[in-house]
Amino acid sequence: MLKKSLNPGNMNESSDLCLSCGCCCDGTLIGFVKLGSEELPALRELMEIEEPNGDGLFLHPCDSFCDGCTIYSNRPKQCASFKCGLLKSLEQKELDFDSAIDVINELKQKKIAIEKTLAMLQFELQSPSFYFKIVELKKLLKKGKAESSLTQNQLALTSDLKQLDSLLSKNFGLTLD
Ligand code: SF4
Ligand code: SF4
Repeated sequence: MLKKSLNPGNMNESSDLCLSCGCCCDGTLIGFVKLGSEELPALRELMEIEEPNGDGLFLHPCDSFCDGCTIYSNRPKQCASFKCGLLKSLEQKELDFDSAIDVINELKQKKIAIEKTLAMLQFELQSPSFYFKIVELKKLLKKGKAESSLTQNQLALTSDLKQLDSLLSKNFGLTLD
C-alpha cells in the first residue's frame, strides 16, 4: 500500500505522486515511447531503443525504470511532457494528494486482481507489458464466447476489465485499447 502525504501542502506533491506510481513507466498504462530523430544519438548511449524505418521507440516496461527514472535529466521528450489526468487534477487542485494516492492504490489492486485471474486461465498472451497484455486480451475476448457461456473466472476477468476501463477513463484520461 502506498504512503499518504504527511505534509499535504508540500510543493513536491507532483513528483511524490509519480514516484509513488510509476504506472506510465512500468508498462501498466502506456505500451511504448516514441522518440524524435534528434533524440536518438544521445539516447542510444543510455538505453536499448528500436529504430524501425528510421523512427525511434522503446517498449515498456522501461529498462530505465527502477523506483523512479534512472536517466531523469536525459529522459525522452515524450516522458518529460507526459502528464496523466490524475497528475493534472492534482496540479489543478481538483484532487488532494491523499485522494490521488487512493486512486493509484485502487489501480494497482485492480492490476494484481487481473494478473491473478489471468494466471488461472489458459490465455497465451505474448506481450511483455500489462498494457499490451490487456490490448491482446480484449481482442481475444471479443472473438470469444458469448457472456452467458463464460466460466466464473472469465466473468470475473470481464468485470475487472470493465472496472479498470472505468477507473482509467475517469481518473487518468486513458484507455487500454
Ligand atoms: S501515470 Fe500519472 S501519476 Fe502515475 S507516474 Fe505517470 S504521470 Fe505520474
Ligand atoms: S525513460 Fe524514464 S521517464 Fe521515460 S519511461 Fe523510462 S523510466 Fe519512465
